[in-house]
Amino acid sequence: MTALPDELLNLVKLDNMGYAHVDAATTTTANGTPYLKEPGVALLARSQSSVGGLRPFLEGFSTDLRFAEYLDDPGLLEPGAQLCKVAGQLCYASFGPKRTHNADAARYFANIRSSGHGSVLEHASFSFLFYGISRSVTHEIVRHRAGMAYSQISQRYVSGRVLRFVERPEYQNDPELHRIFENRIDRAAADYDGVATRLLALQKDGDAALSGEAATDRRKKVQQAARSLLPNETEAPIVMTGNGRSLRHFIEMRGSSHAEVEIRQLALRLYLCLAAIEPDLFGDYRVNMEPDGLWSVFTDTPKV
Ligand SMILES: Cc1cc2nc3c(=O)[nH]c(=O)nc-3n(C[C@H](O)[C@H](O)[C@H](O)COP(=O)(O)OP(=O)(O)OC[C@H]3O[C@@H](n4cnc5c(N)ncnc54)[C@H](O)[C@@H]3O)c2cc1C
Repeated sequence: MTALPDELLNLVKLDNMGYAHVDAATTTTANGTPYLKEPGVALLARSQSSVGGLRPFLEGFSTDLRFAEYLDDPGLLEPGAQLCKVAGQLCYASFGPKRTHNADAARYFANIRSSGHGSVLEHASFSFLFYGISRSVTHEIVRHRAGMAYSQISQRYVSGRVLRFVERPEYQNDPELHRIFENRIDRAAADYDGVATRLLALQKDGDAALSGEAATDRRKKVQQAARSLLPNETEAPIVMTGNGRSLRHFIEMRGSSHAEVEIRQLALRLYLCLAAIEPDLFGDYRVNMEPDGLWSVFTDTPKV
């Protein structure tokens, strides 16, 4: 495990359940259009595990094997690591005194990674909310198919009242690009409002294309049309659930210096949260400050 710089460690906070989050603040233009400058990441759920129920199973084998001692291992692991270690050790019935003890879990998982036995890591799962990310980033996120689940804000269902935007780092660093960005999102918010108002008026006048039986259907008819003018930099919050293996692949592909900068910032924050709560599963990564002024994340054992 490599120590992270304080600048990154300080980004991660833990809530009262020990769940990690990296916060992102909302700001507004002078006209009141809200936007964010960086991704926010909040852990919503993680695997829990308990080995107590293994007792009848372990005691069912010959006492010579001393399998029940497995339950007395004094080393405490995080639940994801504990779950994956039990699953991996079941494969070889490694429950006796010669097994790798919890105190040596780091070595156990290094071996799992270097031998490419990543399927063991699929047992642990984690759910995150990502916000302060643009629609172009979520289009890239959902390309990750294996072991992932997604729920994303519906631009058809929600109204302009929850419309927010995301400012790219390149725009934040240049006063002129920043000014143009703020003007553009003010205009987009106003255009959206204007188009939605016009569509609503047409709907009230009985326009067949905008008709619908339920109020929800009628609202969707308006918003699905009005959203067509929204730019890629519209915020698109998403909940993503992944397992240890699929999240590792995501961090490697999207935290790399070759990845697009917005998703790279997201992958970095995702990694920081995971490393904070499950160091045995995610502690092998290192970070590098790239010439573009942003961190990349990498490991010596990718794609386990
Ligand atoms: C820097 C960068 C540039 C990119 N540029 C483009 C681009 O120009 N155009 C574009 O369309 N996409 C682009 N992508 C997206 C990329 O092609 C992948 O769609 C995305 O990274 C998801 O990767 P994946 O398929 O490995 O992940 P997942 O879908 O999560 O799959 C994980 C792994 O499971 C296995 N797997 C998953 N599905 C299958 C399957 N059906 N059959 C066999 N094995 C499977 C593979 O080993 C795969 O790597 C880019 C990605 C990056 C990181």
